[in-house]
Amino acid sequence: MEFEKFKSMQFPRDVMVGHGVIASLPEITKSYLKRGSVLIITGNKTYDLAGGEAEDLIMKSGLEVHVIRTDQANNSNIQKIEEESVDLKPGILIGVGGGSKIDITKKVAYDLKIPYVSVPTSPSHDGIASPRASIKEKGVFVSEQAVMPVAIIADTAIMVKAPYRYLAAGAADVISNVTALMDWKLAHRVKGEEYSSTAAALSEYSSRELIEKAHMIMSGVEESVWLVTKQILASGTAMAIASSSRPASGSEHLFAHALEKLGVGSAIHGEQVAIGSVVCMYLHGGDWEKLASVYRKINLPIRARDYGIRDEDAIKALSTAHKIRPERFTILGDSDLSYNAAERALQITGIIG
Ligand SMILES: [Zn+2]
Repeated sequence: MEFEKFKSMQFPRDVMVGHGVIASLPEITKSYLKRGSVLIITGNKTYDLAGGEAEDLIMKSGLEVHVIRTDQANNSNIQKIEEESVDLKPGILIGVGGGSKIDITKKVAYDLKIPYVSVPTSPSHDGIASPRASIKEKGVFVSEQAVMPVAIIADTAIMVKAPYRYLAAGAADVISNVTALMDWKLAHRVKGEEYSSTAAALSEYSSRELIEKAHMIMSGVEESVWLVTKQILASGTAMAIASSSRPASGSEHLFAHALEKLGVGSAIHGEQVAIGSVVCMYLHGGDWEKLASVYRKINLPIRARDYGIRDEDAIKALSTAHKIRPERFTILGDSDLSYNAAERALQITGIIG
């Protein structure tokens, strides 16, 4: 019989992490720019933080550079940028921001079929190094196909200025790979879903690194940003190897998206995921107390009410989370978890009550 296995993977080509690496932006940009101008996509706050510096650096290198300041990652903002691009004729995009600006950039890059560089201003989630864009449609975030950045320039001197909350959330997004992996293995056993042990090993490693070094994740310390960013990148590589977010997104992410869909509370992505991973670890029969203690160590609350999420909303989110992405089989199963079962799991893990 003929050999028929096939796999396709997409990786960024240049990855730079560390103090002051933004200085290498012009050189990197030039290496990917075939024709046209450079377009920086950023926000108002992130312009002050790093977008302005990026503009300066590119301008001084003699390239034509334009800046578009945008806000939320939604289709109307994406469309606006694509319309403006007709005149600006960008040959490369540079996304400078925490999350939404990079999501917008990767979607525009995908639509216009041009490369982009990711310049994160905070290490708040693993989207800085992934080909998927989180776009808000009708009040709900949906994960859309986009492209991997050709380069990632993660300057720890810039990212350390972001509020600590973003660092803890970014760490949680990686730590929670533990439940994503349990879900993936479950889907492999139950549904025969394709499984990559290479991707799983790397995802597990990135999570374990942050669990073991949780005591080193501190506010205002550049080394902490370095630690978390490296593992965000490793987790991104695991997703690239799998050509799927599977190694880093399971039931805990379904729960996070369900909260998002309900539009309740003030928790940011990594915080929602952290809560989800504790209760889903309980459902898996794993050591949820250890996971909860890791989040305590990094000062990330997992009590729903700390984010203004009412108990009944947390219960509703957990019992209906499986509907968010029905093809993604997890411990939450194929049908609604009963109200009582969801309430019980959330109560035992101290998330509600
Ligand atoms: Zn995530």
